Amino acid sequence: MAEQKNRFEIIIRKLRENGHKITPQRMAIVTILAESAGHPSVEDIYEQIKSDFPTMSLATVYRNIVLIKSLGEVLELGFPDGSNRYDGNKPFPHPHVICIKCKKIVDPDLDSLDEMKKEVAAETNFKILNHRLDFFGICGNCMAEKV
Ligand code: ZN
Ligand code: MN
Repeated sequence: MAEQKNRFEIIIRKLRENGHKITPQRMAIVTILAESAGHPSVEDIYEQIKSDFPTMSLATVYRNIVLIKSLGEVLELGFPDGSNRYDGNKPFPHPHVICIKCKKIVDPDLDSLDEMKKEVAAETNFKILNHRLDFFGICGNCMAEKV
C-alpha cells in the first residue's frame, strides 16, 4: 500500500535527520512497524526478523522501538501486564478494539470521535491534548471458536 511505503520513508528520514545510522536491522524493524496493521509487540517483531539477523538480540529490537518512539513515529499501547504493542502506521492517538482472548488489536474508524472530544472539552472545561480510548471484547474469530 502506498500509505505504508510512505510511513517507512517518513520513519527512515526522521532517523537520518536525527543523526542515526540506517543499519539493515534498523530497516527491517522499521519495515515491520510501517507495514503491520496488527500492532506487533517487541517479541513479534523479533520473531519475524531473527532468522535474517541471527546475532541480533531482543534488547536491540527494544532499543530501536524506544528510539523511534522518542522521535514520535510509533504509538505505544501500554498494558498493565507489560505486554506493550506498537502502531507505526498511525503514530498519533486513536481508538483501539482489543480481543481479550487472542489479543488481536484493530483500529476502528469512529465518526463520533471528534464529537466526543468536543463534548469532553465542553463538559470539563479542559483543553484536550491527547486521549486513550480502548474497547475490550471478543473478536469474530474467537466467538466462532467458542461454538
Ligand atoms: Zn480474538
Ligand atoms: Mn492502531
